[in-house]
This record gives sequence, structure tokens and C-alpha cells, in this order.
Amino acid sequence: MDLDTVEELVVPLRRDELPVWRPGDAVIAGGTWLFSEAQPDLRRLIDITAMGWAPYEIRDGGLELAATCTVEQLSRLSGQLPPDWTAAPLLHQCCTALLASFKIWKTATIGGNVCLSLPAGSIISLATALDGVATVWRADRSQYTVGITDFVTGAATNVLGAGDIVRSIFLPAAALRGKTAYRKIALAPLGRSGAVLVGRLDRPGDGGTFALAVTGSTTRPVSLRFAGLPTTAELDDALDGIPAQLWHADAHGTPDWRRAMSAVLARQIRAELQ
Ligand SMILES: Cc1cc2nc3c(=O)[nH]c(=O)nc-3n(C[C@H](O)[C@H](O)[C@H](O)COP(=O)(O)OP(=O)(O)OC[C@H]3O[C@@H](n4cnc5c(N)ncnc54)[C@H](O)[C@@H]3O)c2cc1C
Repeated sequence: MDLDTVEELVVPLRRDELPVWRPGDAVIAGGTWLFSEAQPDLRRLIDITAMGWAPYEIRDGGLELAATCTVEQLSRLSGQLPPDWTAAPLLHQCCTALLASFKIWKTATIGGNVCLSLPAGSIISLATALDGVATVWRADRSQYTVGITDFVTGAATNVLGAGDIVRSIFLPAAALRGKTAYRKIALAPLGRSGAVLVGRLDRPGDGGTFALAVTGSTTRPVSLRFAGLPTTAELDDALDGIPAQLWHADAHGTPDWRRAMSAVLARQIRAELQ
């Protein structure tokens, strides 16, 4: 839709060209959400897609994803990662958890997905499963890093202050070397995710940890950690320990249904990784 209150578009090419933040400003990346509903308070858009950030960088220590990496670019990466990064298929799997038309697939960015902080944020699922860490540029020109489970604080809320920009998401190699199992459920075949769970079993040399990412069903991402593969009773107990108020309620599922489905999917994941 047209955003007819917007008076100005700024397209910085470098960080020092970012304008001083003022009320009525919004960062725009893919614009798939910003242009999907009325934004009567917006006066100025700051387009970060011309900053020239490489969509991704493969390093010894892990994978750095620029905030402006699109869902399509992320999905394709599944086939381009080092062979010992056994979690590679998860990149594409999590992209498919997004209810995405052709246009969203091509233009939506991973930064936009994380910054919207919806429970159904599929890049949040990915980053939770793989211990993702966001680098945030503060409006005062400093920067900091924050784990994704601390970044998202609730349904559509996060730690970003006015003018903060997510620069990148880093996925560590130790997590990428893990073996993963992915499950998603929705009330309708093309419905928005009601629960997205991902299990990750690390190699013994990387600690042998089992991590279960519970997303979609909770208002903010939850990562349950175990020293190794848990028993089904230990898994059930850990899920029971998630505070009742964290189970999300909206048109895509009731809290009880989400909680029950999460328990079923968690058991399936455990069986797959056993
Ligand atoms: C039909 C439809 C279905 C959708 N389904 C889903 C779904 O299943 N799950 C889901 O999570 N979303 C869904 N969305 C919402 C949205 O399309 C996605 O979340 C998408 O990934 C957002 O990315 P974007 O680059 O288009 O963000 P934009 O629309 O450009 O921005 C989204 C928000 O993030 C802010 N922002 C963007 N990038 C940054 C940055 N780097 N730093 C700081 N702030 C930033 C913007 O200011 C804005 O508030 C859907 C949208 C539509 C229209």
C-alpha cells in the first residue's frame, strides 16, 4: 500500500551517512511488512539496502549474515556451505517456515524478519536453533552484540532503541556442525506457523550438547539446553518448565494447542536425532 505520510526517503551508502534519528523515522529493508499495512506515524524512511553489505561471509568461526541478506539468498546458502556444516539444510527449511509469496521470498530480509520479532519469525527460529548473535549499530555510532534469545523480548518487541540498526546475525561454526531436526505446524496447510521447533545435537568435539529451539508457539524464542540427548521425561519436564504466560495466543493457535503441539514435535525431534 502507499505510505502517503512519508515525505522523504534517505538512502545512505555508508554508516557515516546515516541521518540523525528523529521521531517519524523508520528503517526500511525489504519493505514487505512496512508496505503491508498503514504506517500513519511515519514521515521518513531510511533505506539500508544500498550500504553494499555482502549478503553473507563464510569464516572459520562461522557464518556472518548481513541484515540485508534476503530470504532467497539465505535459502540458497544451504547448498553452498562447507561440507562439515551439517546444519546447512536448516537454512532453507527455516526460510520455508515463512508464509512467503514470490515477492516476499525475493525481497524480505533476515534483518527485517528479526526486527519485526513476530513469534512466527522464521529467521528467529533459525538463529535460536544455531545460537545466533546479532550485531546492533546504535544510533550514537557505538555497537554491541546480543544473542537472539535476548534480542526478542516478546511478541513484536525487542531490545532495539530508537535509531538502532541490526547490522548482521552471526551463526557460530560449532552450531553449524551440529545435526539438526526441524518441525513446523500450522492450523492450515498455508497458514502462519503455530509452532516451529528445531533440535540440534552437537558433535562430541563441540561439547555434545542437545539444544531445542521452541519458537512460533511462544511469544519469544526459548532455547532448552541439555548436556546430551535427554530422555523423553527430561524433555517433557523442560517443556513443562516454560512459564505459562509465554505460550502465545492469536488467530494461528491457542496457548494450549501450541503447548501440546510443541511437546509432540519435541519428541519427534528427539527420536530423529537419537
Ligand atoms: C502476506 C505476508 C505474510 C507474512 N508472513 C510472515 C510470517 O509468516 N512470519 C513473519 O515473521 N513475518 C511475516 N510477514 C512479515 C514480513 O514480510 C517478514 O517478517 C519479512 O521478513 C520482513 O522483512 P523486510 O526486509 O521486508 O522488513 P521491512 O518491512 O523492511 O521492515 C520490517 C520492520 O523491521 C525494521 N527493520 C528492518 N530491517 C532493520 C534493520 N536491519 N535494523 C533495524 N530495524 C530494521 C523496519 O523498520 C520495520 O519496522 C509477512 C508479511 C506478509 C505481507
